[in-house]
Amino acid sequence: MKKPVYETHVQKGLLLNANENSQNLPASVLNEIKESVDSIMFNRYPDASEKELLEAYGKAMGLDASMLLAGNGSDQMLGYIIGYYLKEGKTLYTFDPDFSMYEYYAGNYGACVKKFEISEEKPFDTEGFIQYGKELSTDMVMFSNPNNPSGICLPIETIERIVQAFNNVPVIIDEAYFEFAEETSSIGLIEKYDNLYVTRTLSKAFGLAGLRVGFLIGNTENMAELRKSFVPYALNSFSMKAACIVLGHKDFMEQYVETVKQERKRMIDAVSSFEKIQLYNSQTNFLYGKTSNKEKLLDLFARQEIVIRNYAGSDAFRITIGTKEENDRVIEVLRQFEVAE
Ligand code: PMP
Repeated sequence: MKKPVYETHVQKGLLLNANENSQNLPASVLNEIKESVDSIMFNRYPDASEKELLEAYGKAMGLDASMLLAGNGSDQMLGYIIGYYLKEGKTLYTFDPDFSMYEYYAGNYGACVKKFEISEEKPFDTEGFIQYGKELSTDMVMFSNPNNPSGICLPIETIERIVQAFNNVPVIIDEAYFEFAEETSSIGLIEKYDNLYVTRTLSKAFGLAGLRVGFLIGNTENMAELRKSFVPYALNSFSMKAACIVLGHKDFMEQYVETVKQERKRMIDAVSSFEKIQLYNSQTNFLYGKTSNKEKLLDLFARQEIVIRNYAGSDAFRITIGTKEENDRVIEVLRQFEVAE
């Protein structure tokens, strides 16, 4: 399968297409990172046990380090667990829509992907999802919660029902955007269900997309097994050091999350009376929207040099929530679209 197109910083304009934090780290945190560089032995291989990083993340999350494994973004951890459990003839069961990389990794290992349609416009059909998954004889369940791109987040009771129903296969909940959600994390269920894993990342709420640090979380026994065949030196010394420093400053992350929550409400309220466009409620740092005249909307954004995520072949698009000023620019484009002939 072809790799999904990754839009990166090489694009020009205001980048609201990849769910990144629009702002770099605070100057004080950047300074701390700069000062730490002298202590890094660049000539030596990194600590393969990732001890300092796993302890720092464990401390920040209230988890034992033995439940954690870190890699080059949660992307690597998702790919790793797919490859660990799946091969030719096996089936990964996910949502439609969901994060495109699940399909890419499953395809790399020869596994096939089956999808259950979800919608931002109607309640999630838990029993329907379970029933269809059983009919398929699924080998792995994997989905993002909150969901990328729809922005919806399933409550913990629903997750628990799914984990119980598929108790003979691994269930992986991708919580890349969980810091922005109002629900309860699935991490608390890990001790109770040994088929449950959760992935997390520092790319979103912590604003470290460029460092590539993500985590796989499971119970201590499962993680001890997974550790045995994980690639050594997945993370470099610099990323681990910088991530540890950032994890010591959770306050700026919490402030960013608060701003995103306020701004997403403000943006949704601003367009709630619009007739030509719909923005859906979101538990993430982005907004999912639909319009029947998307080409016109994309053209208006392009003229303002604002890059948003387009889902070709559908009415859908996705916009990262940026700074207040950036969001004002987005609202203005949406307003122009609404009033245009
Ligand atoms: N999961 C979801 C749902 C995502 O949207 C992304 C990236 N956009 C990732 C995982 C991967 O993030 P990273 O590799 O930066 O941790």
